[in-house]
Amino acid sequence: MKIGGFQKLSLIDYPGKVSCIVFTIGCNFRCPYCYVPQLVLPEQIKKLKEIPITEIFSFLQKNKGLNEAVVITGGEPTLQPDLPEFIRRVKAMGYLVALETNGTNFEMLKNLIEEKLVDYVEMDIKNKLDFEKYNLTVGSVLTEEMFENIKKSIKFLLKRNLPHEFRTTLVKEFHEIDDVIEIAKAIKGSEVYYLQNFKADVEIIGGKKLTPMDEETLKEIVKEVSNFIRVVRR
Ligand code: SF4
Repeated sequence: MKIGGFQKLSLIDYPGKVSCIVFTIGCNFRCPYCYVPQLVLPEQIKKLKEIPITEIFSFLQKNKGLNEAVVITGGEPTLQPDLPEFIRRVKAMGYLVALETNGTNFEMLKNLIEEKLVDYVEMDIKNKLDFEKYNLTVGSVLTEEMFENIKKSIKFLLKRNLPHEFRTTLVKEFHEIDDVIEIAKAIKGSEVYYLQNFKADVEIIGGKKLTPMDEETLKEIVKEVSNFIRVVRR
């Protein structure tokens, strides 16, 4: 596992639990609004100091009982071939595990769920399920295979009785109200859909200036989308 960040305490990243967060290195997307270019761009990854896995397990050993869950995010964690082995060790210590994913590695996601290695899945849906639109939103690196996997991951999560959430980061340059309604229709049946507005004050991958949704449009989106699914704004 290539780990590029470790946050020892979070009260918000695993619903109702005290958690810590492991950030894996590397991603197959290049979302122009990505907040973690240091975990995504090869030239920035080179400068990153990797965190030894022993450090994570030593923390988990010492904090058993205080900390209840481990949230694994990235980058894209499912690109790490030894992710299942890492999670097996974490679960053997009694921790709950949440996985944040972009859904492009359907096989790994399915296997992790079938092996009951994850307790909660948070999947990003970048845009409505239209190849061209999705491709633009992820930095023009989308392949047909990735796109099919994303659709399979959504369907699989909707079918399984596993706590999960779908979420979308809204950026004015990439999302229209109708796009978000289309996403909501595609995930209808899921318990909750989280919408978060792009923050303009952080370093992002593209370096281009992007714009958060204005409040009025956001309210309109929430109103429309609530016809299909319970929406929570973050
Ligand atoms: S926002 Fe996009 S590029 Fe950044 S880590 Fe997530 S999927 Fe990868």
